[in-house]
Amino acid sequence: MQARNAVVTGSTSGIGLATARELAKRGCHVMLNGFGDPPEVDRLCAEIAAQSGTKIVYSGADLSKPEQVRTMMAEAAEALGPIDIVVNNAGVQHVAALHEFPEDKWDLLLAVNLSAAFHAIKAVLPSMRERRWGRIVNTASVLGMVGAPHKPAYVAAKHGVIGLTKAVAIEVAEHGITCNAVCPGTVMTPIIEKQIAQQAQVTGLPQDQVLKAVFLGKMPTGRPVPAEEIAATIAFLCSEAAASITGAAIAVDGGYTAH
Ligand code: NAD
Repeated sequence: MQARNAVVTGSTSGIGLATARELAKRGCHVMLNGFGDPPEVDRLCAEIAAQSGTKIVYSGADLSKPEQVRTMMAEAAEALGPIDIVVNNAGVQHVAALHEFPEDKWDLLLAVNLSAAFHAIKAVLPSMRERRWGRIVNTASVLGMVGAPHKPAYVAAKHGVIGLTKAVAIEVAEHGITCNAVCPGTVMTPIIEKQIAQQAQVTGLPQDQVLKAVFLGKMPTGRPVPAEEIAATIAFLCSEAAASITGAAIAVDGGYTAH
């Protein structure tokens, strides 16, 4: 996978960062994106570039704003050349019962988890179609496949991501472009750590018990999925070998959705 140009959104931590590292290791030039402390982001970019020998650039675009998604995609093409790979991975969560769910949080979750992927795909498709090659991977979730209480916006957005993935896959298949979704189970990243801390406070249980009972309870493997395993799946979907995999929602969830 040498000399491909990739954008990985939400890659200043967690799954996105592991994916950016993996794609760079495999020879890709990568634009990172996400929020973070500027010196720390600079350090990360320099570290990945030194390890991979590829070009690593960064956009601080706020993906809740469609205009900033478009600007990020334009800047990526300017900095790296035509974009071959887009990993729509940025995500946010808010946990509350539906009757108390704040409307601004509904809008934010739909914007970042779902609409940002639409805007990024729309921006990149013309050049992928022209060059007759492209790989799009969207990070959904097991909650794109099954429901869960107190997460209505997240569940709706992630189901939407899988729908968008299928629609795009069918539309662009004849142009050498694939579009797939990965559906992680629990991965220990800030988005989950925050929820564990919240649940521990509400229930009065220690955090390790909350992790075991609530976040690993439905995973027969009984352990969190390492971010690197999600990254390896995404990198495979971006490879030549995965040319015939498209429109798929691939669970990397320790058996969660096998129930
Ligand atoms: P994370 O909190 O480590 O990473 C989220 C990333 O998104 C960060 O880089 C953050 O800065 C970025 N981000 C958030 N809002 C943004 C915005 N408005 N604009 C630009 N970037 C923004 O969490 P993670 O677990 O690595 O999450 C990555 C993806 O994986 C998300 O889509 C999440 O829903 C999904 N996911 C995570 C788990 C899990 O257990 N961790 C499970 C299933 C799916």
